[in-house]
Amino acid sequence: MKAVTVHGHEEIRVEEVPDPRPSAARDAIVRVELSGICGSDLHIYNGEIPGVTPGSVIGHEYVGVVEDTGDGVRRFETGDRVVGPFHIACGECRACRRGDHHQCDRGGVLGYGLAFGDLPGAQAERVRIPFADVNLRRLPEDLDAADALLCGDILTTAFGAVRNAGISAGETVAVIGCGPVGLCAVQCCRLLGAARTLALDLVEDRANRAAALGAIPIASQRVNPVARVAELTDGDGADAVIEAVGGPATLELAFDLVRGGGRISAVGVSAAETFDYPLLNSMTKDVTFRVGLANIHRDIDATLALVAAGRVDTDAVISDRVPLDDAPEAYRRFAERRSMKILFELD
Ligand code: NAD
Ligand code: ZN
Repeated sequence: MKAVTVHGHEEIRVEEVPDPRPSAARDAIVRVELSGICGSDLHIYNGEIPGVTPGSVIGHEYVGVVEDTGDGVRRFETGDRVVGPFHIACGECRACRRGDHHQCDRGGVLGYGLAFGDLPGAQAERVRIPFADVNLRRLPEDLDAADALLCGDILTTAFGAVRNAGISAGETVAVIGCGPVGLCAVQCCRLLGAARTLALDLVEDRANRAAALGAIPIASQRVNPVARVAELTDGDGADAVIEAVGGPATLELAFDLVRGGGRISAVGVSAAETFDYPLLNSMTKDVTFRVGLANIHRDIDATLALVAAGRVDTDAVISDRVPLDDAPEAYRRFAERRSMKILFELD
């Protein structure tokens, strides 16, 4: 089958690789209809993720049709249209029994290398999904494939981030980063009750995309974001800050944007092992700081219901739909911020 593989820093290829087969009883093989490039794939593209061996198939966002199942799969059969979380969980370990599927002992992230479970990638004609009963959701016939795809990762990541920030109706939330995750977060802020969302990006066009979704844009290349957020909140700061970029600079910025007693919820991924935690600032301001991988299993049924009800503008997030063969150029465009969310259409 055809698949997107990575061969080093900024080196993406489309190659023939062996077709996957169910290698364990609980595996399903999904024929991929649609697959996405995520901001998290850019970290692989930029060579920041250890343990991604040359020739690895990458990608973790997909919608497709079940083509084959192992003997132990009970809830799915050939022909079912499905989506699944970007991270795999076994459903049985202590973490899964607690509901912490993103902390599963036997799981990991699809197409993210040895450090994340050595799992197959989904930017391919077929993907093997372990523990299929736990990691697939059946889709109604009439649900748009792209709407569903966003639920397997970025929409649900954003939803979880906003949920974890504990927004109360009427609050003002700052979202740092207006990439695909940030644009989903802007929409989730409104869905979960925020009165105002202040959306920051260095790329003005991206901040403007957030404005089209009802946010107040802050082009932080041009405007000092700390001063602007202070101005917009009568010197108070934002009730909550969603960090959707990754890395020390924007984490530290979040502490400068949040009000006393406020909450920071960070989902940006970074290879940085540490950052300078502003202890005194956060101590005196009594800030709640939360960072982590998304728990898609927890929230995917909620986001699927929201897209099915037409409550999310997914077209505002998706900019390109291209064939898998265009992957090298698609990665370049996304990395250079010339495109927003790019989807691969497979037949
Ligand atoms: P993206 O790279 O397209 O978006 C990042 C955006 O941040 C860009 O628009 C960029 O211009 C902007 N930006 C960069 N530096 C900035 C700064 N200093 N101030 C303001 N804006 C800045 O990627 P995306 O797909 O939107 O993903 C965003 C992040 O979320 C990535 O790090 C991705 O890995 C992560 N992510 C995390 C999870 C999780 O489970 N925690 C899941 C999905 C994605
Ligand atoms: Zn992702």
